[in-house]
Amino acid sequence: MPKTGGADGALNRVNTNSKPTDLRITDLRVAEIVGAPFTSALVKIYTNQGIVGLGEVRDGASATYALMLKSRLLGENPCDIDRLFRRIKQFGGHGRQGGGVSAIEIALSDLAGKAYGVPIYQMLGGRFRDKVRVYCDTDADKPSGTETGRRLKARMDLGFTFLKMDLGLAQISHIPGAVVAPAGVLDGFRTHAGRGRAGTLDERRARNAAYDAQNVPHPFTGLHFTEKGIDLLDQYIHEVREVIGYEIPLAIDHVGHVSLQDGIRLARRIEKYAPAWLEDVIPWQYTDQYRRLQEATSVPICTGEDIYLKEGFEPLLNSGISVIHPDLLTTGGILETKKIGDAAQDHGVAMAIHMAESPIAAMAAAHVAVATENFMALEYHSVEVDWWDDIVTGLPKPLVKDGFITVPDKPGLGIDDVVDEVISQHLQPGVTGIWQSTEHWDNEYSWDRTWS
Ligand SMILES: [Mg+2]
Repeated sequence: MPKTGGADGALNRVNTNSKPTDLRITDLRVAEIVGAPFTSALVKIYTNQGIVGLGEVRDGASATYALMLKSRLLGENPCDIDRLFRRIKQFGGHGRQGGGVSAIEIALSDLAGKAYGVPIYQMLGGRFRDKVRVYCDTDADKPSGTETGRRLKARMDLGFTFLKMDLGLAQISHIPGAVVAPAGVLDGFRTHAGRGRAGTLDERRARNAAYDAQNVPHPFTGLHFTEKGIDLLDQYIHEVREVIGYEIPLAIDHVGHVSLQDGIRLARRIEKYAPAWLEDVIPWQYTDQYRRLQEATSVPICTGEDIYLKEGFEPLLNSGISVIHPDLLTTGGILETKKIGDAAQDHGVAMAIHMAESPIAAMAAAHVAVATENFMALEYHSVEVDWWDDIVTGLPKPLVKDGFITVPDKPGLGIDDVVDEVISQHLQPGVTGIWQSTEHWDNEYSWDRTWS
């Protein structure tokens, strides 16, 4: 019998395979891929009604962060997004440690959207814009600003209207007289800990030592720019601006692990190039140093890609920074990032979004971007990845067109499926298959209440 109004009317619009009240989570599986552009783990949450939710564990993070939460989700109704999020949020943390909780929250949101037949942006309150401005990250590994400028100009020719480049230690540390460095410190930043299986205990120990060397916070490295170093960085961005012009927004990232004082020196020197923002000059936890940094320069100061939960942003919002840059795959997911964006708006702070994974992460971010008023631009790392659009079906191809993502009016994330043939060709080293059984996580248990 046809139903016409109210909740009954809503039922007429739901996926015919789905009765949301009786929807239950039956399984959680992953596919660990590499090269899109970095490493990440695609996540599927399966249900008793045939619909599947898609999520993704952040670039560089372990899939374990999601898998360890499986037993806490089995048998639950995925549409109870916030209730389940609050159950698992204590198992996330800053940086990549937020990857599991965030991946799951995104997959739950995808499922709820599919079950009720609405796009995620509509679950967040609807649209502020039809399409999402994408900014194109461009690692400046080139020795000259002119060459980096040409690469950025090629982005503009593709239609991008917002750019980002690196400017800091990496561009000048090989030049004699450019950097003050205690012996051996720079070498530590040039060696990355390897991934995958270590052959011997000594190899494992060496990898851990390489990790430790990269893990020294900025105030303790003893690295400083010399005046010559600052001159070279000034010249580098000057050359870039000469190629791309002075009108297109240009954000700056990867200054290097230098001190607050070096960050202030660099920021003041490059004010004349009107950067869109200067990003992650120091660890985000040093809230008072951020206040001093922003007060010392007219360059908008930005941070946030490693912050978990809205409460992690609150001290920074009070410090006076100009732009936050959350990553949905660290923050706790979609609803949490919407809340973070709104909190930033209350402080007069703009929100850009960090993103460095597959179209699953891109769509999760795009839904928040259209639904949050103070959104500015969404990061995109995969211009050179020719199989990036082929990872999924159901989206416009290319998804990023003329520098923008148009968010489709489809349920959930708007993605139909993941293409197994494509991702199977891009598995992380040591990974033997995709969507393999995760039964060994079904009974993971610990009494984890944090109070008594
Ligand atoms: Mg960054």
